[in-house]
Amino acid sequence: MNPAPPRVLRPGTAGDVATLLAAHTPQPRLLAGGTDLLVQRRAGLDAAVLLDVTGLAGSAPAVARDAASASLTISAVHPLSDVASALGDDVATLRAAIDEFASTTIRNRATIGGNLVTGSPAADTVPALLAAGAVVDVVTPEGSRRTVPLADFLLGPRRVDLGAGEWVASVTVPAPLSGGGDAAGVLEGGFRKIGGRRAQAISLLSLAWQWRRTADGRLSDVRLAMGAVAPTVVRLAAAEALLEGEAPTAELTAAAAAVVGEDIRPIDDLRASAAYRRRCAAGLLREVLATPRTTTREKDL
Ligand SMILES: Cc1cc2nc3c(=O)[nH]c(=O)nc-3n(C[C@H](O)[C@H](O)[C@H](O)COP(=O)(O)OP(=O)(O)OC[C@H]3O[C@@H](n4cnc5c(N)ncnc54)[C@H](O)[C@@H]3O)c2cc1C
Repeated sequence: MNPAPPRVLRPGTAGDVATLLAAHTPQPRLLAGGTDLLVQRRAGLDAAVLLDVTGLAGSAPAVARDAASASLTISAVHPLSDVASALGDDVATLRAAIDEFASTTIRNRATIGGNLVTGSPAADTVPALLAAGAVVDVVTPEGSRRTVPLADFLLGPRRVDLGAGEWVASVTVPAPLSGGGDAAGVLEGGFRKIGGRRAQAISLLSLAWQWRRTADGRLSDVRLAMGAVAPTVVRLAAAEALLEGEAPTAELTAAAAAVVGEDIRPIDDLRASAAYRRRCAAGLLREVLATPRTTTREKDL
């Protein structure tokens, strides 16, 4: 049975969010797209007061580019479809993850804030943002900001580094932003997931990658992040170390795939066995190194 209907309040500014979070005990839940929260409520989550933060999207852009640092601040309260449109060619990992995310209907509601705070190791924007080197911009009860590297924000399944009265306003991705080539090479990135079906599927496994490729084919600044293979999304440090500074030959690709297991701790669950996930993890990295371009597939089924 559903819990009693909550009272829904609609803060118009970030300051109102802080005030309303402090004014109620127990602390209200933020309601963004509602695509996780409403499912949790059907499963029995009780929340007397919800703060609907969708109105905050009107007061800031979905994506803001900082001219001085060349970093990119991405809203945590805008729908993913607005974020994807505003990103243009920037942050290829995140663009590709949003392409693979659920369906148009869900992308028009779901937010990065909800995806991060749910704390799911299968959340699709998380590997994409981790591979892109994102930090999380947390608003404190006093209205000031603290930034947390995304890897530190993820504490465990359904656990993130958010204290009482805190919420996530945005994530910031450092420069370089675009795929334009320079002496350091061309920035490449992408995201692939394995699900039980082609759309509306929770990831059985996902991989986001970002690196620079120089004219002679060598990779640098290699970042690989894998979802649904450990209590949190993880970096594949051993494979990254093998690939750094090298051109991915068939031998190196096989060696990198062979060490993926060092950084993952998959479990058996209702979606897949740990053994299947281990095989897929190695196979997905092999596939990505062989054909790193993300293929756009028909998602709007
Ligand atoms: C049919 C369907 C398909 C789905 N497919 C995918 C998929 O392909 N990939 C995937 O990763 N997920 C998927 N999901 C899960 C869900 O859509 C995502 O996790 C989504 O990003 C949640 O965002 P939201 O804005 O809807 O969050 P909400 O449901 O509004 O909130 C989720 C939680 O985060 C908290 N919260 C929300 N925003 C903030 C904030 N800014 N600061 C602090 N706390 C906050 C809420 O209080 C709540 O506890 C799917 C869900 C459904 C129903």
